[in-house]
Amino acid sequence: MREEIKRIPEEALAKQQEYMRLVRFHPDRPKTYYIVTYGCQMNAHDSEKLAGMLEEMGMEPAGERTQADIVLHNTCCIRDNAERKALGNVTWLKEIKKERPELMIGVCGCMIQQEEMAKKLLKQYPFIDLAFGTGNLYRMPEYLLEAIENKSRVIRVDQESSTVVEGLPVHRESDIKAYITVMYGCNNFCSYCIVPYVRGRERSRRADDIVREAEGLAAAGVKEIMLLGQNVNSYGLDSEESISFAKLLHRVTQTGIPRVRFMTSHPKDLSDELIDEMAHNPVIAPHLHLPVQSGSDRILHEMNRRYTREHYLSRVKALRSAMPNIGLTTDLIVAFPGETEEEFEETLSLVEEVRYDSAYTFIYSPRKGTRAAEMPGQIDPQVASERIERLIAAQERITGEILSDMAGQTVQVLVEGTSRRRATQLTGKSGRNINVNFNGDASDVGKIIPVRVTGAGSNTLRGEKEI
Ligand code: SF4
Repeated sequence: MREEIKRIPEEALAKQQEYMRLVRFHPDRPKTYYIVTYGCQMNAHDSEKLAGMLEEMGMEPAGERTQADIVLHNTCCIRDNAERKALGNVTWLKEIKKERPELMIGVCGCMIQQEEMAKKLLKQYPFIDLAFGTGNLYRMPEYLLEAIENKSRVIRVDQESSTVVEGLPVHRESDIKAYITVMYGCNNFCSYCIVPYVRGRERSRRADDIVREAEGLAAAGVKEIMLLGQNVNSYGLDSEESISFAKLLHRVTQTGIPRVRFMTSHPKDLSDELIDEMAHNPVIAPHLHLPVQSGSDRILHEMNRRYTREHYLSRVKALRSAMPNIGLTTDLIVAFPGETEEEFEETLSLVEEVRYDSAYTFIYSPRKGTRAAEMPGQIDPQVASERIERLIAAQERITGEILSDMAGQTVQVLVEGTSRRRATQLTGKSGRNINVNFNGDASDVGKIIPVRVTGAGSNTLRGEKEI
């Protein structure tokens, strides 16, 4: 059944604008802020919205979290260690708060959206001043004002997360690259994943709102946009507008933005229409992140991924025949409950067959409330570590081979800044999303320029600027 999408009305946002104004002129408001972000690009973009609102309230970013008047932790709950890290950092700030009791500590994001976690924070972390979930992030100014005025903690986790909010202020991290969220939530319920529970069902933004945002970014001189969604390939399926993701992507590429990327694509929904659009539209970067998770049909079935190894490989074949030079990346989980040595080897053999540019590799992490957490056959941690090491070694070798084979090619690099290691070196990303370092002049920062590849490191390319 289609869940009704709650588009937050303009009046509700106008109210938040008024709260922002009240905080701005409040004598006791925090003057500086620091945001600690965990997890994916969706969270990184949410943090840009939090920063936008905090700045609208007159606050400035602090260089260090120990110096900030308010520290917000925008959390992730996709893996146990992300949660533990966030809780560890929150606890660490408790000591700072002993010296500076006026320090406000906030927690938001996916972790807090889990009912039990919200209860735990309320009970065991009394020094947290502010907590809110992903569905009501836009109401942060209201909660902050309440906390300041009443000098009390405010914990508001809205379990109803099916919202779409337009028009929040955004403080973007970069003026070269920008994120645009095209849809929120996920309907897929992969058996290991907590996202559908904490981010709600799929809600697509209106195409016109997305295109308007892209036009604004193009006019501001942004060179690359990444369209974001948990499953961008099902963009539009939940809305009255009959527009596919391929058509939306096409419209975004007509705004004058030189380069457009997107993530994440679910292999079961990767359409021929999208492959065709990618192949014929030079604005779309020749890169696709296509998470496979496992190479074993039985494990894919248990994961509820709803595709087979054969289907996945057929999509890779279609992509490569349409775009021989496309770079593919993926996500892989090892030690899913019940995974046998043979099934793990099927993942290894798939990695050898596809030859990804790079892969995010994870040991399965049970998430309470998901189906997989209750499955028998949880894998011994030592076996899991040994498997992931073998997988990483295979992927590193393949990455090294792919990068070495690129010597002599010319790649288009969006120059992002100077290299962390050498100030005379520029660094940027190729269309395939590979880091490229080369000697150059700071006036090239923010441009897309041709670079001839002269060599490769373990996961970066070296090159020379083509004249
Ligand atoms: S597609 Fe699967 S893994 Fe990705 S967010 Fe949805 S449920 Fe989680």
